[in-house]
Amino acid sequence: MRLSFPWHILFPKRCPFCGTVIPHTARCCASCAPNLPLLSQNARLIGELPRQIAAYAPFSYEGLAEQAVWRLKFYGVPAVARHLAPYLAEALPDGAEFDLVVPIPMTRRKERRRGYNQAALLARFTAEALGLPARPLLQKRRETAEQHTLSARERKTNLSGAYRLTDPAAVRGKRILLCDDVVTTGATLREAAMLLYDAGAESVSAAAAAFAGGFPRETQSERSKPCPPQNASTTPFARRS
Ligand SMILES: [Zn+2]
Repeated sequence: MRLSFPWHILFPKRCPFCGTVIPHTARCCASCAPNLPLLSQNARLIGELPRQIAAYAPFSYEGLAEQAVWRLKFYGVPAVARHLAPYLAEALPDGAEFDLVVPIPMTRRKERRRGYNQAALLARFTAEALGLPARPLLQKRRETAEQHTLSARERKTNLSGAYRLTDPAAVRGKRILLCDDVVTTGATLREAAMLLYDAGAESVSAAAAAFAGGFPRETQSERSKPCPPQNASTTPFARRS
């Protein structure tokens, strides 16, 4: 009988929030589970009709969620994306259907420096949880300043022309789920959605790990729910036939 190599001993699973080694079937550790900054309202509407985007995120960008995003982005722990993805998938509304998951890109230079694009990893694993394809169809052409650091006037031009769509035909008639790590002002999502709508996308929604900025948290009793095991099924999203 051929024994499989014990990769789980060499590379144990770690809590995405604090890095503690956890059982393979757990989603996070027992200490983090009751303290996750889960949102009670995990949807935000960004932009205006008819090109409004519904964005969804499980966490408020603070405490353990901020820690997890920092581990993913700045401490070189790409595995965090795999473990956060089920939370993103579950933040989406029941019955919502998408055709394609598209990550928010970073410039090639920045991606080379980091070694990966954290939004692309989140998109890949969220797509996997939803049974959908993920495609990096957006490209970032130049560095931009953080929107919240700019004046109203500067904000209007900061993102203009910063993104391009690599294959416009691939989004025509499709229901797109954009994926990013944190949503702050929503300006990036709005800019990306504009390109997708211009190329004929049927709808554009977004999923992120966290929303930054005062969103109501769940109450203490709601938050004390135990962390579900990682293999708990996520809402199945049918791919459109
Ligand atoms: Zn933990």
